[in-house]
Formats: sequence, C-alpha cells, structure tokens
Amino acid sequence: MRDEKKEICRIFSEAFYFVVTSHQNIDGDGLGSALALYFLLWRMGKRARVVYDGRVPYFYRFLPGSAQVLSFEAFSAEKEPFEVLVVVDCSNPARVGRVEGFLKEARYVVNIDHHPDNAFFGHANFVVPGSPASALLVYELARELRVPLDADIATGILTGVVTDTGGFQFAELNQNLFTVVGELVASGASLSTIMHHVFRFRRLEALKLLSRALHRLTFDPVCGCASTHLMQEDFSECGAQEEDAEGVVDYGLYIPEARVSVFFKEIAPNTYKVSLRSRDDFDVLPVAHHFGGGGHQRAAGFKITGSFPSVYREVLDVLRTMVLESSK
Ligand code: 5GP
Ligand code: MN
Repeated sequence: MRDEKKEICRIFSEAFYFVVTSHQNIDGDGLGSALALYFLLWRMGKRARVVYDGRVPYFYRFLPGSAQVLSFEAFSAEKEPFEVLVVVDCSNPARVGRVEGFLKEARYVVNIDHHPDNAFFGHANFVVPGSPASALLVYELARELRVPLDADIATGILTGVVTDTGGFQFAELNQNLFTVVGELVASGASLSTIMHHVFRFRRLEALKLLSRALHRLTFDPVCGCASTHLMQEDFSECGAQEEDAEGVVDYGLYIPEARVSVFFKEIAPNTYKVSLRSRDDFDVLPVAHHFGGGGHQRAAGFKITGSFPSVYREVLDVLRTMVLESSK
C-alpha cells in the first residue's frame, strides 16, 4: 500500500504554489493546523496562502499568521495560480464552503485529517482517525520533511492539540503525547497563552449568551442527556455573533451523571446547527450520521430544519433511544 505521508512529502517537495484551507465554523485544530502548514511550507521555500470561507474568531487571532488568512472573496479576487490545495481537519469537501469550487482546479488535493468518517477526497489522503488532533499529523509531516519546528509552527500545532483534546481531558496526556508537547514547548509554543485564548478569553457578549444557555440547561436523568439551545434573538439581544456560542455544548457534560450533551443553535429562521458531545461510553457519531452530519465519536454535529419544538423532540427521541440501546 502507498505510504500517504511519504506521498504528501513528495508533493510538498515538488510543487511550489500551495493553498491551505479548513472547514467552516473553524476551530483551533482546523486553524492551528492550517497555519502550521502555512509556515512549514514557507520554511521549505514554497509560496503558500491560507484561505477560509468565514470569519476567523477573535479568540484565535493570537495565532501567528492569523492576520494573513484570506477570506474567500480576497482569495478569489487575487487570481494567483496554485498547484496544491491542502485541506486539513475536514472530513468532506462540502465542509470547506465555497472553497470547494477550487478543488477541481488543483493539480493535487492533499487531505490531512483525523475524522473517522473522512471521505478520502484527496489525491493523497493522510487520514488517522485515532489521532487526537489533525495538528498531530502536521507534526508528523514536519518530522518526516525534516523541517525544524519554530515558534510559529509549534504554536499552531499545540493550539490544535489543546483545542481538540479539551485541554488534555479527552485524550490522556500519555508519555508519547507529553514528549510531543515538550518538543512544541521547547520550540517556542506557550501552553499558558494557548490555554488562555482557547478556554478563557471571551467577550462579555459571549458570556451573556452562555448565561442564557446555562439558564435553559435541562437534564434527563433516565438517559443522561443534557440539552440547551440559543435562538437568533438571544444573539441579537446579547449583541453576540455565531462564534460567541463556541464551547456552550461542553457545559452539559459538567453534570456528573451526564452521558451526552446536545446544543441547538438557531443559525437562520427554523434552521439549527446541532452540536453533540459525550463521555467515553457513548458514541455520538451514529446520531450525527442519522441526521446527515458527521464528526467524531465524542464530538459531532449536524444541521436540521423545522420548528424548534419539533426539531427538539425529534433529536431528543433519537438520542434517548440510542443512549438506552447502548446501555443494554
Ligand atoms: P461542533 O459541534 O463543534 O460544530 O462540531 C463537532 C465535530 O463535529 C467537529 O469535528 C466537526 O467537524 C463535526 N461536525 C459538526 N457539524 C458537522 C456537519 O454538519 N457535518 C459534518 N460532516 N461534520 C460536522
Ligand atoms: Mn480536529
């Protein structure tokens, strides 16, 4: 079988013009990995750009290179050639938004990801579902390419790891991960700065929004499901934006008996983005797949349309059934 990591190294060495992108509703793993790849390619003497179809959340703007991220509009206007499109932390091409249209223009599409439901849409696919973060695959590539880590690359990678492990709570900080983190820190990444921005750096508007979600949090002790929601008027009344709801879903799992947390975010009238989180013993991926979404075993999501009461009932019914099935 072809070694995908080696194939990507070959493409990285041969080509010159690169574009790096990640999924919409970007998180610290998507952005940290994309920016680490961007710096890595520059260090290799390549011309690289990062494009993202969305707005970079303010709490990730501490990341080196984040000011260089091109919007879809700026990227389209530039008309600069590219040979390779690197898609990182993204299970399928539809998730990159309008950047999807550029996939067919690339000589090579490189797919670097850790989602179990990755669609293997690239010419080269470095997909490791067991990896706690896509950023760790970028780390492996840097090693394979013998590009020395510097503070810019290390900060992107460590931000990916910190985000997707929930600050080392969802993946055990074992000896192996500890060694990698040690190297990233030795290369100039600041763990305290990253932790601060990822978890404890939120606008007042975001905290007001969180208080509404917490106020509405309900818990069903029979199936261990915690649930809450935010409607469009919550956002407007709090002066909040979509990114201000980042992390809201995590609170349901603070409840000791909770097995799963679900959060409904109204993104347009009667359209909801649903986030799911679970503890080790329950797999939320089949629930997300049931509704046409995807993700990981412990963190997944999907979109659904309908009135809130009907959407809420439908999702909770499926969740309850699946949770109770899984404990049989
Ligand atoms: P979040 O709830 O933070 O938006 O997403 C949690 C995880 O589920 C992430 O890994 C994300 O990529 C995935 N995810 C969220 N929404 C969707 C969706 O609509 N489709 C797919 N395929 N994955 C999703
Ligand atoms: Mn990820």
